[in-house]
Amino acid sequence: MRPLNFPALFKFAITFTITCTSSVFSATALAAPAHAAAHAAPHGHAPAHKNNAPAANNASNARTPCARLTARLQSVTPAMCQNSQLVQSGARSRQGFPILTRQQASTSKKDSVRVLLIGGIHGDELSASSAVFQWMQWLPPADSSPLHWNIVPVLNPDGMLAAKPRRVNANGVDLNRNFPTPRWNVEAQRYWISKTGRDPRRFPGSSPLSEPESRWLSDEIKRFKPQIIISVHAPFGVLDFDGPVDPPVRFGALRLAPIGVYPGSLGAYSGNQVPVLTIELPSAGRLPDQAEMRRIWQDMLKWIEQNIPSGNQIAMANSKSSAQ
Ligand SMILES: [Zn+2]
Repeated sequence: MRPLNFPALFKFAITFTITCTSSVFSATALAAPAHAAAHAAPHGHAPAHKNNAPAANNASNARTPCARLTARLQSVTPAMCQNSQLVQSGARSRQGFPILTRQQASTSKKDSVRVLLIGGIHGDELSASSAVFQWMQWLPPADSSPLHWNIVPVLNPDGMLAAKPRRVNANGVDLNRNFPTPRWNVEAQRYWISKTGRDPRRFPGSSPLSEPESRWLSDEIKRFKPQIIISVHAPFGVLDFDGPVDPPVRFGALRLAPIGVYPGSLGAYSGNQVPVLTIELPSAGRLPDQAEMRRIWQDMLKWIEQNIPSGNQIAMANSKSSAQ
């Protein structure tokens, strides 16, 4: 591991952290379960730091997942997290942090489009997770929403909560290169060696789905059967798209500008069957202003409504074409 860059770390600490008092947080659905310590033995190369201590081991300040996440995400208040209706999925990161999800089916529309919205697959893209928390505040209630949501604001909590946030997970794997794309064993390694020069930030892992976070997401895609997957990243300030429907042209100020296909990426893995929209926010450390966040959100909803067919519509189109 490279030595820590202390000036950068100091700057980071000022930019991204806020002080939270434990009295703000009460036990909720997100409280760390008592058995967390059993899953929380240190793995991999994560630096030792008190922020990395599992909540159940930190007896003097047993902080909930919301407390730990909002201590890192400056734009997300404890109240936002507590009110976000997140629950523990049952899956845990390498270091035992619960993967949190919000599931909201539409009660107003039977055949609703299923949307999987993911933030923070790269732990050092803090704005990506903050954006998902922000958008959750604007989610219409189930009885007026035409969409079935499955929302994962922080897929790589160990990377985000490391002493210095890291792109990779606690095992040093870039989760967005760990999905089983065709010929992964050859292509992912070859790409990592020849194109990235063995960049440790882009290590695809020793085998596809070697990591609990990517494995859980792959299982969740099979279980939930989304009609659209939206993955939020930073800092390229564009939209990227893999899939069989018309891509969006623009959300807010973000325009479509394909950034490439990588072996092992979520887009390359799912894009053939399920459209994968990648939103690259313009800064990893700072959210766009509220007006722009609102424009991106509204443009996204409109594009889904106009372009993503529901399961029944796809089935009907398939049966029509096979009948011809
Ligand atoms: Zn990213």
